[in-house]
Amino acid sequence: MSDCIFCKIVDGSIPSTKVYEDDKILAFKDLNPQAPVHTLIVPKQHICCADQITADNCEIVGYIFSKIPEIAKSLGLENGYRIVNNCGEDGCQSVKHLHFHLLGGKKLAENMA
Ligand code: IMP
Repeated sequence: MSDCIFCKIVDGSIPSTKVYEDDKILAFKDLNPQAPVHTLIVPKQHICCADQITADNCEIVGYIFSKIPEIAKSLGLENGYRIVNNCGEDGCQSVKHLHFHLLGGKKLAENMA
């Protein structure tokens, strides 16, 4: 999508600090980290949000989760981590391209809401 910043990061027209990339997904450092390690993992195909996941496009979500252990290990998250997805207005999703926050590098707060 032409006005989507994460599509622009995927196509390289906006720079990012890449952590992992293959033909289907990209992981890059969050610009405004909320933890010592804060990486975003996105599908290269544009999916607006978790609410737009369907039987036809859900395979990429499983693929992302299959890669998370490898990405987490490469970031030194041997002691655990948190995966967060914000969806829509009440979920405070600010970028309308499906992404998973991978947070860690310290003991994270218990309260998620
Ligand atoms: P959301 O609030 O779940 O949609 O998360 C969007 C995340 O994208 C936020 O944590 C932002 O800091 C991050 N972000 C926004 N623009 C950029 C960018 O250009 N590079 C890396 N991270 C970004």
